[in-house]
Amino acid sequence: MSEYWKEQALLQKAAFVEDVKAFLSINSIEDMTTATAGKPFGEGVAAALESLLARGAQDGFWTKNLDGYAGTIELGDGEEEVGVLVHIDVVTVGEGWTTPPFEPTIRDGRLYARGALDDKGPALAAYYALRLVRDSGLALTKRVRLIIGTDEESGWLCMKHFMEHDRVPPIGFSPDSSFPMTHAEKGQINPTLTIAPTQGSADGEGRLRLLSFVSGDQGNSVPDKAEAVVCLGAAAGEQLALAQLASQWEQFLQEKATSGRMEQLAPDRLKFTVAGKPAHGMAPEEGVNAGTLLACFLRERSFEGSASSFLSLLSDIIHEDYYGQRLQLACEDDVSGKLTVNAGILRYSETDGGSVRLNIRYPATISCEEYVEKLKKRVAELGWTIDSLRTSKSHYVPKDHPVIQTLSKVYEEHTGQPATLLSSGGATYAKIMPYGVAFGPLFPGKESTAHLIDEYVEIDDLLRAMAIYAHAIYELAR
Ligand SMILES: [Zn+2]
Repeated sequence: MSEYWKEQALLQKAAFVEDVKAFLSINSIEDMTTATAGKPFGEGVAAALESLLARGAQDGFWTKNLDGYAGTIELGDGEEEVGVLVHIDVVTVGEGWTTPPFEPTIRDGRLYARGALDDKGPALAAYYALRLVRDSGLALTKRVRLIIGTDEESGWLCMKHFMEHDRVPPIGFSPDSSFPMTHAEKGQINPTLTIAPTQGSADGEGRLRLLSFVSGDQGNSVPDKAEAVVCLGAAAGEQLALAQLASQWEQFLQEKATSGRMEQLAPDRLKFTVAGKPAHGMAPEEGVNAGTLLACFLRERSFEGSASSFLSLLSDIIHEDYYGQRLQLACEDDVSGKLTVNAGILRYSETDGGSVRLNIRYPATISCEEYVEKLKKRVAELGWTIDSLRTSKSHYVPKDHPVIQTLSKVYEEHTGQPATLLSSGGATYAKIMPYGVAFGPLFPGKESTAHLIDEYVEIDDLLRAMAIYAHAIYELAR
């Protein structure tokens, strides 16, 4: 049956290209300065939502606008429901586009525009798929709902509102990731560890003071810069000590193959700055954490009290502990891999003490509660306190679930490729539905330009995705 859907999708090409260009020319970056009642994320987001809903209504579908937070376009009237979850908000554009991000342009079969791939292009393809199913005249036993979110790139408030005011379909897919499909997503534990300020016992010679330490500003990113101000205390003024420190610093930078600076701010005051390598917090091993790296250097000098505890936690426990071995949290499962740990925000001051914000991503099939308990125990053992702790659930659809079986069959029929199941360290929109999977639109081997300058999607790929979505909607709802 895949041939039928492919043909039908291809017949839409000319109309779809016109439609998608118009849709992508709406700047739907969240803009709170233009937010009003009914337009909670601003004018642009509201315009994009209304445009898609208007297209649905014009084509004769039952549509609904949930106070500007979300919208639905429905097909069929069965009791049971299938969801197709998309979003029409886009991220900011940045500079350096070849053609303006909201003037969609086709070059070499690629459609360039912000949102072409994430997620307005696929959203419209999914709508066309829904319409193809209706126009096929094939009978459905379930109701299909295209659910349109408006705040996926920020706080998911759209889905919070949707869940409070509407029904969430138990099964479905979200065209907001990659083919074949993502069926498992790690959960998150985000604790802030703190230690109160204390002075050391002795004020003996050579003791240094850590006046401040600053690294990172987002829990889910690997810090690419760190800065510490150190007071030399009794060692100040000793040219020898200073020269020694400077040469040890140079040697350290060389060994770690990174760049940094040591500046003398005052006779007894030095500032150290070091560069790391940024990476997403879900893959900390791909980056170099500038904060824990700087702590490794300072740790070898003589600090006392809370400064010493702070530096030793960072250097002895957290530095390069990507999989939580030293935190005694290491674990993994077959579907989503290893637990990962990122230290994203690191702060110390003599008046406030130290704080470390961790972003821990745990495998989809393990118990969050169990690992929170392990973490609490270990943190207490290390002499630290957990000041705040946020968790988010993992998501997992077993591979023998009918949704996976159906989507796999459709995907294989259309592509001739095996529907290998994927997992993700981050959260995809599909997790809103109890048995939701992220399904396309990016085909294996294709470059993902989501959130990048010159974001694009291949038009033929969107049409292939449209055919797959139509076929999938029919199979899930028939
Ligand atoms: Zn997206």
